[in-house]
Amino acid sequence: MTTVNRNGEVWIFAEQEAGKLSDVPLELMSRGRRLADELKVPLAAVLPGSGVKALGSKLVSHGADKVYIIDNEKLGVYQATGYSKTICDLVREHKPQIVLFGATPIGRDLAPHVASALKCGLTADCTDLEIGDHTPPGSTDVHKNLLLQIRPAFGGNIIATIVNYDRWPQMATVREGVMPMSEPNASRKGEIIDCRSTLNGLELPLKVIDSQRRPKKVNLKASRIIVAGGAGIGSKENFRLLWDLANCLGAAVGGSRAAVDLGYVDHDHQVGQTGTTVRPALYIAVGISGAVQHRAGMAESAKIIAINTDKDAPMMSIAHYGIVGDFRQVLPKMIKVIRSGAGVKA
Ligand SMILES: Cc1cc2nc3c(=O)[nH]c(=O)nc-3n(C[C@H](O)[C@H](O)[C@H](O)COP(=O)(O)OP(=O)(O)OC[C@H]3O[C@@H](n4cnc5c(N)ncnc54)[C@H](O)[C@@H]3O)c2cc1C
Repeated sequence: MTTVNRNGEVWIFAEQEAGKLSDVPLELMSRGRRLADELKVPLAAVLPGSGVKALGSKLVSHGADKVYIIDNEKLGVYQATGYSKTICDLVREHKPQIVLFGATPIGRDLAPHVASALKCGLTADCTDLEIGDHTPPGSTDVHKNLLLQIRPAFGGNIIATIVNYDRWPQMATVREGVMPMSEPNASRKGEIIDCRSTLNGLELPLKVIDSQRRPKKVNLKASRIIVAGGAGIGSKENFRLLWDLANCLGAAVGGSRAAVDLGYVDHDHQVGQTGTTVRPALYIAVGISGAVQHRAGMAESAKIIAINTDKDAPMMSIAHYGIVGDFRQVLPKMIKVIRSGAGVKA
């Protein structure tokens, strides 16, 4: 645990792989900028890696006032031991008040290692972050300007706000895709700081001989239109209708967890709490009841069309347009109309 430093910076872990920044630090940068401005402190990105110096200016253009670069060949491939020691040493030296990680596989592994080594708190999988005050029950002490760490709890039935007023830094992982990505501004100025690595002499437990990545089959986050199917589709063969509609619309195909578990569509297509979080211009939910864990991943879509035989399905209550009917009748009609161009104005 580091001492409570009211003037400490806001930090974002700049996750990268093979010298390529992931989306999530750029998503965190937009909210981090707002938090830092509210606290009137600098926003800094922490960038460990090997051969990553070129990414510093990109992080500045996306909103960082400072970028701490720790370039060491031992950080070339992610290993919790090296990354957590690097970040802990930097935290002890600079005493940030907030440290944010993406809730990616790496962030979910790294953040608990850091929190445990620093003996501070960690809220996992936040969907929102704000600055606010807190008075502990039974006390009159007002703790000002804390990080309000907001996330669904109890299976998504409540939204909890979690605060940590005495074991700093305040740390959270943030779900991917819930915050819009910050816009780059090439004229922004920031400080790029080459930090001394503290790993020299440290033996890492793993020797990476080779690494192979299976590219995702679909980039749901980048899709403007998503046609998603659920258990109501009934079979992998029936899912073909969704692929046809998606092809007509230039859309991606998504699925509920039930559809994935039933083998109708691959896990890369899963939308929701344990899948991808999306916010497309149009989300067409076909045969999806709209459980809270599914809605957590798509409720921010600009327009939602629900197609369901049950007019009372929860998805209907958040849909902008609801079609009560059997998808086997509804989808062929939609496909026919779209293919004919009828009703589509140029
Ligand atoms: C910790 C946890 C994490 C989870 N994470 C996720 C997640 O990331 N994503 C996710 O989706 N779920 C997730 N779930 C599961 C979630 O709770 C639901 O079980 C799941 O979303 C239900 O999927 P569904 O709507 O496809 O199926 P169902 O709830 O079975 O709904 C099927 C729907 O299809 C309709 N239907 C049936 N026949 C037709 C027809 N012919 N035409 C039109 N409509 C029809 C029905 O009326 C019904 O509304 C999670 C659960 C837990 C506990």
